Amino acid sequence: MKVLKVSAQGVPQSWISLEQAVIHSAAGDVRWVAGSEVAVFHGGHNAITGLQSVIAVNSIIGTRGMSRFNPFDLTPNLANNKLFARDRNVCAYCGGDYDEYDLTREHIVPLAHKGPDHWMNVVTACRACNHRKGARTPEQAHMPLLYAPYQPSLWEDFILRNRRILSDQMEFLAAHLPRSSRLLN
Ligand SMILES: [Zn+2]
Repeated sequence: MKVLKVSAQGVPQSWISLEQAVIHSAAGDVRWVAGSEVAVFHGGHNAITGLQSVIAVNSIIGTRGMSRFNPFDLTPNLANNKLFARDRNVCAYCGGDYDEYDLTREHIVPLAHKGPDHWMNVVTACRACNHRKGARTPEQAHMPLLYAPYQPSLWEDFILRNRRILSDQMEFLAAHLPRSSRLLN
């Protein structure tokens, strides 16, 4: 499992390991925590008091420092696993539900026609449909799209990047999504 590290202002920064979260905690970087307690680490015993140091890690930590980027300017990098998650493993042409293994990144305007390799020009397609469409546009191939592509926001991107997201992390990120987001339906 991963801890969601956000800026003190609540802007997502990265998914980090429990160990990295402990380091932030020990360094005094954590300003606030949210979500549930997911792990407790025991440190050494204090020589005088005999008490053992304990660091609890929550599923969401707000750390000091400003966001390194403007979240609204950001274009999340395009990766197949995130594309398939955006499109819920559904082929945009036949509507079939496939395993990741049988899916491909399909360029709506083909690369051969100078279609960009960008979120707005790609959809998930099964191998058969991708092959059938070939280097044609949906109009030329008479294969209309069953859903429209979109570029994920920073908050959606954080959801797409973590397949084992905890429910409180999902809730935190989903609070920033528009109601129309496919990730909410
Ligand atoms: Zn298909």
